[in-house]
Amino acid sequence: MESKIKQPLSVSQGDLLLVVDVQNDFLPGGALGVKQGNEIIGPVNRAVQTFIKNRLPVVYSRDWHPPDHSSFQEYGGTWPPHCVRDTKGAAFAAEMMMPEVPLIFSKGIHAETEQYSAFDALDADGKPLRQMLGELGIKRVFVGGLATDYCVLNSVIDLLKAGYAVFVLTDACRAVNVAPGDGERSLEKMIAEGAQLMTTEDF
Ligand SMILES: [Zn+2]
Repeated sequence: MESKIKQPLSVSQGDLLLVVDVQNDFLPGGALGVKQGNEIIGPVNRAVQTFIKNRLPVVYSRDWHPPDHSSFQEYGGTWPPHCVRDTKGAAFAAEMMMPEVPLIFSKGIHAETEQYSAFDALDADGKPLRQMLGELGIKRVFVGGLATDYCVLNSVIDLLKAGYAVFVLTDACRAVNVAPGDGERSLEKMIAEGAQLMTTEDF
């Protein structure tokens, strides 16, 4: 498994950066902290800077659950309560770079629906990300965030199925690894579906 990107890759019109769930609860010390999740902030910011500098869109997805969400153990799910809407845990990492008017898409907003993929996440007006990608004429999506083996994986697979070229920014992702190797296996699955791996140093 290796990055297929051999030279600096320049971004241009039709490219979009998707930053998945860089929220306090998914960082070390959070309710569902991903080990070393904080290490992605620098690479994420590098990617964000690259896109902002080139006047290209950056989308931030977030878990945005009601307090009784079905993914929580207390309500029959597998996870401790996390990213409850309007709490500090659900807030984006303070160190993460965001433009003045960020494009934010929320998922898992209804108690009964678990939603790992950001593809159908909704903006404040209820517009799904998939629709916005079409409207903006997006062709390539660069993805980083948390966690590799859940929300990144499912977002990437949905994007690939919808026909987008997808580049996974490996230095801007970390895995939960409930079972050892989940992160590596997830990357292999993404490659098998057509994703390319690169790092934010390749920009
Ligand atoms: Zn969640």
